[in-house]
Amino acid sequence: MDILLKNIGIITGDMDNPHIEEGFVGIKDGIIDFVSSVNDSMPELKARKIIDGKNRLVMPGLINTHTHCGMTIMRNFANDLPLHTWLFDNIFPVEARLKGEDIYWGTMLGIAEMIKTGTTMFSDMYLDMDEVAKAVESSGIRANLSISPIKLNSGDNKIIDETDKVCEFYKNWNNNADRRITVSLEVHSTYLFSREWLEKSAYIAKKLGIGIQIHIQETKRELAESIEKYGITPLDLCLQTGILDAPVIAAHCVYLNDNDMDILKAKNVSVAHNPTSNLKLGSGIAPIPGLIERGINVSIGTDGAASNNNLNMFEEMHIAALLHKGYYNDPGVVSAREAITMATSNGAEANGLNGITGAVKKGMKADLIIIDMNKPHLCPVNDPVSALVYSVQGSDVETTIINGRIVMENRVLSTIDEELVMGRVREIAKRVIK
Ligand SMILES: [Zn+2]
Repeated sequence: MDILLKNIGIITGDMDNPHIEEGFVGIKDGIIDFVSSVNDSMPELKARKIIDGKNRLVMPGLINTHTHCGMTIMRNFANDLPLHTWLFDNIFPVEARLKGEDIYWGTMLGIAEMIKTGTTMFSDMYLDMDEVAKAVESSGIRANLSISPIKLNSGDNKIIDETDKVCEFYKNWNNNADRRITVSLEVHSTYLFSREWLEKSAYIAKKLGIGIQIHIQETKRELAESIEKYGITPLDLCLQTGILDAPVIAAHCVYLNDNDMDILKAKNVSVAHNPTSNLKLGSGIAPIPGLIERGINVSIGTDGAASNNNLNMFEEMHIAALLHKGYYNDPGVVSAREAITMATSNGAEANGLNGITGAVKKGMKADLIIIDMNKPHLCPVNDPVSALVYSVQGSDVETTIINGRIVMENRVLSTIDEELVMGRVREIAKRVIK
């Protein structure tokens, strides 16, 4: 055994056996070798590393299904603005000043923050994905990295065909870094991609056999412009152009009519719910209870740190569980258990890793987090699932294990020099934020 967690509370994420009050988790060669209760008869276990789980809970690592990790550079820049002004007049001009290496450091900072708040996998959409992949490789995190077939934001509104870069990126990185990297295609949105490029993108995704990450129906304006230009919603346009024939993570989905919901269900699209970003940009509130009721796979994302303004999935899970209760005057919607499922196994499914990560279960990847419950705000625990959603803070994550490797122990990162990364990002921000 490489790592043994003993006498620990276990939230398995496995619906057959969701909670083990006190048990053991064994990890070998990056895989969960066994999960058992203290009441089971156990052989004497030896392990290279033993972690005592007294007053600790272990759960599947959280999966952030929509972010732009490198945007940490723009954290707390351009606030209290609507999406269109925020993006076109503030974010894009700063992004035009970013160099490749800046993206690496911004991504490293985001990964450091995510590991420290219990995220073991993220789905990313950003510039210079080679730099992002390098950061994922060296940090030990798992990621689904989407790369755009066109270059946007080139200053003069010219669109540059970068299909060759997509193919090269796929060749270099798909299933690379100990199989921690999945490559997908970025189709930013139907407002930045023409009909022709939506069709081309669908073809590229099909040819390479990869998924697509896209922003869909985030604002009223986006919806109205699509109706005006094409006579149909962005989702319908995606359906017509073949985008939805690939496995798709659709971020936001705030404004959906019944037909849109039918499309999501029929095409098996995964929705990434980003409640903080939607609230902060004044975009609106996505109809999540309705999506869950229809059996649509809903996961959770933070969006970038420039519209959140953090990448803390515990906070996101908390808001997702509260928001809809108030909005629909119904405390029964988005239960604590549903919120955890959205942030773990539904995230795995969105990334095509269903049954591979997202649960504490024998045979699955050892992507786990240990939470220190020995704190005043977590005492007494009473109901651990509710505690995880309503009381636990991201900073209560004590240890993070990804692919069987301890990447943070007792709040100390083992793969990232935090001080160095923060220093570099402070310098970059000084240069590019104007
Ligand atoms: Zn986004």
